[in-house]
Amino acid sequence: MQIRLFVDAPLALGATVPLTVEQIHYLRDVLRVQTGTELFVFDGKNGEFAAVLSSLSKRDGRMQICRLLRKQPEKRDVRLYFSPLKRDCTEWVVEKATELGATQIVPVITQYTSTKRVNTDRLRLISIEACEQCRRLDVPEISEPVALKELLVAQNDTKPLLVHLDETGRGKKADEIFKGIDAAAFLVGPEGGFSETERALIAETPHTTGMDLGERILRAETAAVSALALFVCR
Ligand code: SAM
Repeated sequence: MQIRLFVDAPLALGATVPLTVEQIHYLRDVLRVQTGTELFVFDGKNGEFAAVLSSLSKRDGRMQICRLLRKQPEKRDVRLYFSPLKRDCTEWVVEKATELGATQIVPVITQYTSTKRVNTDRLRLISIEACEQCRRLDVPEISEPVALKELLVAQNDTKPLLVHLDETGRGKKADEIFKGIDAAAFLVGPEGGFSETERALIAETPHTTGMDLGERILRAETAAVSALALFVCR
């Protein structure tokens, strides 16, 4: 198994990088690796490097950065605005959205949002683990929750097209919406859907369109990953 680690500091060839307490525990107590082991490391900005574990004890661990493996790819703009769900579902959405390439994940509080407390620090950890696992080199930004109204007020033509996932059947199909765009922001409603007032506000918002994902009413988490998969796998 190739070990991949995210390092929250700029990486450069020749540098010696200290391991965090969590990384020391993972390498020493979980994987039981020895010094000299090759690791793949990335910092979210400067590509992926091969590194050698140069020391590892209970309290201290270091690795030396040896060679560049992959350059940092150009960053895309694929956003997921979703209403927080029960804890496990929210975490699942963040993990899958990371695997599918979402670059910004924003919890949005709507009228029918039932879970308003969101542990963004934990979501960031989940997202980093997903990047390590899926070989992704950039780490999505996980924002603090915002109110739907605030999000809509900030929307304009300079932002990616806001694609409102609309279960009423009034939205357009994915291939029509995605023609000619390489950035998008998907807005998914809570389990109870958007209220009529919110639907009216979304309809008045510039640079927005509704998207239909078929005749069945999907769980919010299914809708979120389906929309992202359709967009990134075109
Ligand atoms: N209010 C709905 C109801 O109870 O009939 C259910 C809302 S659905 C569980 C949660 C969210 O997933 C919706 O607000 C919408 O954003 C998205 N969604 C679900 N099914 C969809 C579909 N077929 N097409 C587009 N979006 C969908």
